Formats: sequence, C-alpha cells, structure tokens
Amino acid sequence: MKITAAVSYEGLPCPKLAEVELDEPHPDEVQVRIVATGICHTDLLCHAGLGVPTPRPIVLGHEGAGVVERVGAGVRGLAVGDHVVLSGASCGLCPSCRAARPTYCRESHRLSFGGARADGSSPLRRNGERLHGAFFAQSSFATHALAPERSAVKVPADLPLHLLGPLGCGFITGAGAVFEAFRLRPGQSIVVFGAGSVGLAAVMAARIAGAARIVAVDTLPGRLDLARALGASECLASGPDTAAQLREIERHGFDFSFNTTNVPAVYGAAIECLANEGTAGYVTRPRGEWSLNVAFLLAGGRKLQGILGGSANPQVVIPQLLTYWRQGRFEFERLITEFAFEDIGTAWAACESGAVVKPVLRV
Ligand SMILES: [Zn+2]
Ligand SMILES: [Zn+2]
Repeated sequence: MKITAAVSYEGLPCPKLAEVELDEPHPDEVQVRIVATGICHTDLLCHAGLGVPTPRPIVLGHEGAGVVERVGAGVRGLAVGDHVVLSGASCGLCPSCRAARPTYCRESHRLSFGGARADGSSPLRRNGERLHGAFFAQSSFATHALAPERSAVKVPADLPLHLLGPLGCGFITGAGAVFEAFRLRPGQSIVVFGAGSVGLAAVMAARIAGAARIVAVDTLPGRLDLARALGASECLASGPDTAAQLREIERHGFDFSFNTTNVPAVYGAAIECLANEGTAGYVTRPRGEWSLNVAFLLAGGRKLQGILGGSANPQVVIPQLLTYWRQGRFEFERLITEFAFEDIGTAWAACESGAVVKPVLRV
C-alpha cells in the first residue's frame, strides 16, 4: 500500500516526507496506523551518519504508537483495532530473549540498525526500488508501519495514545534503569546526569522507588526546574567541580549514578560520586576520550554498567509505567512537545538544540 514516510537521505539536514510503498504484513507482523511517534537522539545520530552505521536511504523512527489495522496469519495476541506502543527489535530465540531480556538480544544490533527484517527483506520501497526500513523493527516516521507482534505492546484504549510512543524507548530507558537495571531500594540515593527525557524519567522512577536522595545535574536551568518539579531533591548546575559538590551532599557517596550524557568528563564524575559498592550506569557512548580510574572502582567494589533500553522487558514494564501514570506518579506528558508530522524539520531542530525535552510528531 502507498503510505507517507519521512525518508533519511545522506546530506539532508532532516528526513524528508515522501510517498513510499509498504509491504504486506508477514505472518508474524501487524500493520499499525501510526498516531504519533517520538524523536530520539538515536534517530538524530543515525540520520546524520554519526551513530551506529545504518544503510541509507532509510525510514527511521523507533517510538511509534498507533492502532493495529491488519494482522499477519500467525499473530495470536493482537487484533485489529488494538492500541499498541512499538518497542525495540529482538529475535525471540536467543538466550537473552528466552530469559525475557530482549534489550540484550544477541541479534538486536542487526535487527535494529540493519535496515531490514530478520530474513533480510525490507518492508519499504520507493519508485520500485528497495528503501531501507524495519529500523528497530518499526520505522515509525510514517503514516503506517509493520512490526513483529513480539515488539508491539498492547495498551488500554482509554489512554492518550498520541503521548505513549516515547514509552517504547526514551521513557522506558530512564525508568527501566532505576527499576530493572539498578533495582533501587527505598532509602538509597542516586545522581542523574542529564535532565533530558531519559534522565527525567529516571528521576520520576527513583521517586516512585523510594529513593531518599535524587540529585539531578544538568547545564540548563530550565531542565533543573523540571527535575525538581518531578521529584529531584537537589539540583546542580554541571561544571568542573560537580564531583566535589556531590561529595558535599553525600559524604560517603551515592548508591547509584545514571549518566545519560555523552560528555567525557561526566563519565568520570559519575564514578567519582559513588559510594562503596555503588553502580554507575550509562546509556550512550562518550564523544571523546576519558580515563577510567580502575583503582577507585576496585577500592570500593564499585561497578560500571552499560544499560540498553533500561534492561527492561517492554511487554512487562510499559504496562507498569502506565499504572504509575494513572496514579499521577509518572507524569511523562510534562516532557512532551507535540509537532505536526509535516513540521518534522522544526521538531528535528528543536530536538537537536535541546529546546524541547521530547518532541513527538502527530501523524
Ligand atoms: Zn531511542
Ligand atoms: Zn534474541
């Protein structure tokens, strides 16, 4: 069928709307009419050719939410009309998938960034030529997308579907880090570096989990105000003596630090602020060199932990986050600014500059 998608071509400042052809759903897939889709920094990096190498032209987008329009012959858990949030790609067969740890799927890199389905086919064409798709098994910068049943999370129909897309990546990454990767217990302490959508989701999750102390660190005063409103107990403007300031707040250090930035110096501060047996989690690569103080890690039994997708199983954790939202404890809508799909250029620029926390395209 003919659909409209935002296509990433090399050299363009942002994806460009075009008419493209969408395949028939495979037996394990659902066809989803996209209602809204968030823009994530991974989209920005892949579009610019700065992130994980992806083939182009490609349709990006991996925070889609929409309504199931068609189901493949083998789909058993979803039906036409169901509301779904699309999450990441995973194979369903490897040891991590079998252990319900899909973010650490042994095939997820290829399935997320390879521009094709598991069998190598692409669901998209343009003027009869192959267009790369299946980005994170969705390519949701489009009016319609195909997604495997296993990565589509059914959500209650009474919820505001147009706000739910970022639960599939940004929000679950932050909240999952606290609930699933750290398993933070009441009374523990955490420092969150970077008050963007991932960091602020972590702040809200830490409050829900009963953290005694939640310190947010960022360079933008507006972001710190938002962090305070969402549950941070202290806020710090990021600078060269951040680690020393954190030591003043917690003399023995913090149980956890969560680094959502790519600033090399922050990787150091996020370890220096740890208490004995503390854990420093991080979600992206530093954009330059930094040196790891191995002796300091060793001395206190401290840990450095890479965290993908919050280490969370979306089929379990997205419904939990929606329960917290209904209870007024996970106010993710406060992070969202909506744009029309046609205004993707404006939304793209606002995401790049940090003018908005989480842009969402209304399709
Ligand atoms: Zn993302
Ligand atoms: Zn797998």
